[in-house]
Amino acid sequence: MMPQPIRVLDEITASRIAAGEVVERPASVVKELVENSLDAGATDVRVEIQAGGRRLVRVSDNGCGIPVDEVELALARHATSKIRSADDLEQVATLGFRGEALAAIASVCRVTLRSRTAGADTGLEVRVDGGAPVSRHATGTPRGTVITAEDLFHAVPARLKFLRNETTEAAHVLDLVTCYALAYPDRRFVLVRDGRTVFQSPGTGELEDTLIAALGLDVARSMIPLAVDAPPPSVTSDGASSVVRVRGYVSPPHVHRATRRHITLFVNGRWVHDTQLAYAVIQAYHTLLPKGRFPIAIVLIGVPPAAVDVNVHPAKTEVRFRDGRPVFSAVGRAVRAAVVGGAPVAPLGTLPPTPEPWGARPRPGAGRAGAVAATPPAQQATYLDADGGRLPLLRVLGQIGQSYIVAEGPDGLYLIDQHAAHERIMYEQFLARGWHGAGQRLLTPEPVALSTRQGGVVEDHLDAFARVGFDIEAFGTDTVLVRSWPDVLVTTDIAATLRTVLDLLGEGDAPIEEAFETRLVRAVCKQATVKAGQTLSPEEMRSLVRQLEETQSPRTCPHGRPTMIVLPAERLAREFGRT
Ligand code: ADP
Ligand code: MG
Repeated sequence: MMPQPIRVLDEITASRIAAGEVVERPASVVKELVENSLDAGATDVRVEIQAGGRRLVRVSDNGCGIPVDEVELALARHATSKIRSADDLEQVATLGFRGEALAAIASVCRVTLRSRTAGADTGLEVRVDGGAPVSRHATGTPRGTVITAEDLFHAVPARLKFLRNETTEAAHVLDLVTCYALAYPDRRFVLVRDGRTVFQSPGTGELEDTLIAALGLDVARSMIPLAVDAPPPSVTSDGASSVVRVRGYVSPPHVHRATRRHITLFVNGRWVHDTQLAYAVIQAYHTLLPKGRFPIAIVLIGVPPAAVDVNVHPAKTEVRFRDGRPVFSAVGRAVRAAVVGGAPVAPLGTLPPTPEPWGARPRPGAGRAGAVAATPPAQQATYLDADGGRLPLLRVLGQIGQSYIVAEGPDGLYLIDQHAAHERIMYEQFLARGWHGAGQRLLTPEPVALSTRQGGVVEDHLDAFARVGFDIEAFGTDTVLVRSWPDVLVTTDIAATLRTVLDLLGEGDAPIEEAFETRLVRAVCKQATVKAGQTLSPEEMRSLVRQLEETQSPRTCPHGRPTMIVLPAERLAREFGRT
């Protein structure tokens, strides 16, 4: 794409642009400069910071460069080469469009801009301080642009107060560069902090290479790829067939984190914060993660530019979908399909390609291989994660409190909650093959009186009940007749058990779209399983542990509580003061 000349936007367009300060902290300066480099088609983006970015932020790229006669305009407010008029806001295909980032940055610090276009023999260097021009001269410089912002906020001391310590500000910059590297695996990113390279992505175009640089080898290896192409919300006016594309990686259920900060979302190549999208990701792990734990996810979503409004937030970190439902559902389905349904963990190297960003963004040249000097952000798995999702072979030692099985594994001591473990086993058995022929005929059909609400639930879902093993029919007002019963439910009190199952159905924070049947199965499992407070024979315990070893997600019950606690051998040694 030939870059357009930079022009000052007319008043109307400028006023339509969601106004606001974009420069809040060093990471926001880095974000704006990196986005400009990406818009310029750079394949190499180098970020340097000193003193957490407060002393210096420099972003160098090998992009298209800024023509000599446009450099001052680039630094002016509402000057952009990316849109022409308010109409263009409907179809923004670049990351920038406001024309205010450089002006905002230049107004709060000392900026040096050096740039050369491909056609020019020499480049130009311009310096500004607090927005006022300081110097301008021709200079030799490689093709591309280098922007240096020094002494951030020295011109606005009030802002300085809001900056955190260097380590925190540097961590924000690292997060940001890492996320962009993941969303743009075909560009090479380097982050240098106080003279030391702390992150580098290879730019090979292979997302998994960047994933290793970003997450470290172990976690990266465990990540599961996403691939969904969903039908579009509607056919576009020009009749083009377009889809919602979901790519990226999510962590398997046994790798989780304490906050949702590790869910990274990109829409059309733009890093966004979107509670609903994040929620769709989290909900897809329903029952698989312990309470209060969150997945690691990098979700790259592609939609037609016209399906999304990018002009809703000053820092452009939010978008509004014209119709969000198909997007949330595509994301939910992609993630769910990746983490359940027996999806084997794909080894790195067998991954679907990343989506092309929509729109006419300049394409970078061929990627290149490069060494990966990864300094992964401090992302520690809990000790439950230590050896992946599958259980090692366990040797049962005994039982405690008629509730917990004690077992030995190669790596330490395992305490297994027998009730939670049994729930997990039954739940997966049903999902895998049903409990067939689950229905056990009762000798005499049993009438059960229900509340009007309970009766309504049963009548609305007779089919689902039947598949799970209940043969039930309506029988007068608020009474049902139970003819057969899932044989996993060993009980004599049919009425009480059915009522409890119905109550359990309403519990918890199940996603609304989750199949009724799945919830019913979970409720039945909960009723059917070995209760705490039951003595198990050694053979029963061994059988339970063996079946647990065979489940997909042995470490949590279907309601997301842990089935086990592991005391690693090193921890025992530490507790006994042996290390
Ligand atoms: P916006 O990105 O919204 O257009 P900016 O203030 O960030 O606004 O940048 C203003 C203009 O300066 C851009 O439209 C672009 O033409 C030019 N520019 C900024 N950074 C670069 C860069 N790294 N390479 C090439 N051109 C750039
Ligand atoms: Mg910009």
